[in-house]
Amino acid sequence: MAEETSKDCIFCKIASREIPVALEYEDEWVVAFKDIHPQAPIHTLIIPKVHIPKIGDIGETNGDVLVRLISTANRLARHYGIYEEGYRMVLNSGDNGGQTVYHVHVHLLGGRFMKWPPG
Ligand code: 5GP
Ligand code: ZN
Repeated sequence: MAEETSKDCIFCKIASREIPVALEYEDEWVVAFKDIHPQAPIHTLIIPKVHIPKIGDIGETNGDVLVRLISTANRLARHYGIYEEGYRMVLNSGDNGGQTVYHVHVHLLGGRFMKWPPG
């Protein structure tokens, strides 16, 4: 479940600046940075500073973090100029959900039409 940080977690290292990446946004609760393998013209990851392994671990007691993640994605969508045309947020949980990094993150995808259903 939630810990402050996890020493083997790459996103904890990015959030703590141990691994330097250009941040798109940072505040007390979250950081955002561009995905290393972008799937759309805009593909930014928004993560909590606290280590929560997966979205399936989020419930009523730690749900505040989700509001922070989503409101940051909306803020960035405005910043990128895609708020009006629309965009997609993706949250993968667990292996069958396609999750590969076990630190909660929201994918913000935009700049092109997003097909449905996803693969
Ligand atoms: P998931 O598959 O867990 O939902 O998403 C993980 C995302 O993190 C993938 O889209 C992957 O490209 C991205 N990613 C993995 N390692 C790094 C990294 O070291 N830096 C950045 N910027 N993105 C990463
Ligand atoms: Zn972590």
